[in-house]
Amino acid sequence: MIRSLGVLREVLRGRRIPLWVEVVENRKDVPQRVVQLAREWGAKRIYANMEYEVDEARRDVRMLEEGMKRGVGVEVVHDTCVVPPGRCVTKATGKMFAVYSPWYKAYLQALSQDPALLTLRPPPAANPESTLTTRAALFTSALPSLPPGKTLTAEETLTLHELYPAGSQAAAAQLASFLTQKGRQYAADRNTPSISGTSGLSPHFSAGTLSARTAVFHARAANSGKLSGGQSGLDMWISEVAWRDFYRHVLAAFPHVCMHKPFKPSFASILWLAPSSPLHSTRFSAWKAGRTGFPLVDAAMRQLAKEKFMPNRLRMVVASFLCKDLHIDWRLGEQYFAEQLVDGDFASNNGGWGFASSAGVDPQPYFRVFNPTAQGLTWDADGAYVRTWVEELRDYRGDVWKITEQERRCYGYPREIVEHAVQRRVAIEMYKRGIERGKGVV
Ligand SMILES: Cc1cc2nc3c(=O)[nH]c(=O)nc-3n(C[C@H](O)[C@H](O)[C@H](O)COP(=O)(O)OP(=O)(O)OC[C@H]3O[C@@H](n4cnc5c(N)ncnc54)[C@H](O)[C@@H]3O)c2cc1C
Repeated sequence: MIRSLGVLREVLRGRRIPLWVEVVENRKDVPQRVVQLAREWGAKRIYANMEYEVDEARRDVRMLEEGMKRGVGVEVVHDTCVVPPGRCVTKATGKMFAVYSPWYKAYLQALSQDPALLTLRPPPAANPESTLTTRAALFTSALPSLPPGKTLTAEETLTLHELYPAGSQAAAAQLASFLTQKGRQYAADRNTPSISGTSGLSPHFSAGTLSARTAVFHARAANSGKLSGGQSGLDMWISEVAWRDFYRHVLAAFPHVCMHKPFKPSFASILWLAPSSPLHSTRFSAWKAGRTGFPLVDAAMRQLAKEKFMPNRLRMVVASFLCKDLHIDWRLGEQYFAEQLVDGDFASNNGGWGFASSAGVDPQPYFRVFNPTAQGLTWDADGAYVRTWVEELRDYRGDVWKITEQERRCYGYPREIVEHAVQRRVAIEMYKRGIERGKGVV
């Protein structure tokens, strides 16, 4: 995000538009500071994109109040979504859906009824050359450094630079290349981790260098002008991008999901493994380090540690594994993902963990437990993905899904930390009892 700000600053400078970056230590001071700057610069109006998390929404309401007091207009728009929250609601109740499929129908309907939702805006017009001298001070803003505790080693910096080119031009090029090359095969390839058949655009969506509107606009053009009923790969990709809107709509309609609470209140009574127990720390550390002895889980967690990215199918597998095989509270996994992921996004991350832990909207039923070995056999049958990420097994020529205890010892690869069949039964019982206990909780 910081690198993208650097690119944006240069692009805007080319149009004689300054980019001012301000770091405000205390969240509560943000509204006052922004309005104060607007007044200093003689700006009449502030435009901002809506953020749906409760603290951020509250901040923007305060900015509106502050602006009213001090004669500066404040306009907050829904531009991180294609369709603004509140527009896709059930006919019967007028409320937000808690299931994706009917919501997606309403989303497509909203887009066909209101073509303006998929109209791209032109870039801002350039300022006159003289702005560089009359407003010289505004062009001196420095970019912030990495926050404390988030610094990167030289090797990490290099890896991230290579993997994730910054800025909206890089995003546009990646989108065009995906739509013309991999897009048509997306439905068939998206779940196979060794192929990388997905767009890899999530870091751009999350950094704000690609808007969902732009992505859907171009995908529709590549799909013969259709959002659905066109080519299967592109139809599916458009519907996947919509999941991002869906989880934002969920956050806007059910703000309790960003207050550390499950979507379904009864799920709050599940008794997870106690964080103070030694078993908790052994299991959580093994999961984070990719040393659980389950090859697919370990490969995915090691990719996350190195590349700060993980394919969607594997996010579901490792999330399910944490809650339903290791019995660790999904919120700890959610937090770890948020700290690690290059595409970290509250609504999508919370939605994904809600799905896998069964505590969210439109979830996997609690009694459905991913079998990490069966998932590996289905999506990485030849073990190519596992060999890429699990160093110990790189030279192992056997079937990674049938590796024996003796072979594990020989290659220095850990034993399975738990027995899946047993933990699955324990998890179902743990969920059943917790939900029963939580009934009536509102
Ligand atoms: C436990 C878990 C945590 C997740 N955390 C995040 C997160 O922090 N940030 C994030 O952007 N996505 C998250 N996802 C969703 C999904 O895994 C990523 O968006 C996807 O893997 C990004 O890769 P891509 O850009 O190649 O996706 P593609 O398959 O090319 O999809 C295109 C875009 O559609 C959107 N999208 C696709 N699938 C989903 C989905 N299930 N939910 C929401 N949006 C989706 C993303 O914006 C993605 O970039 C999470 C999923 C799970 C199961």
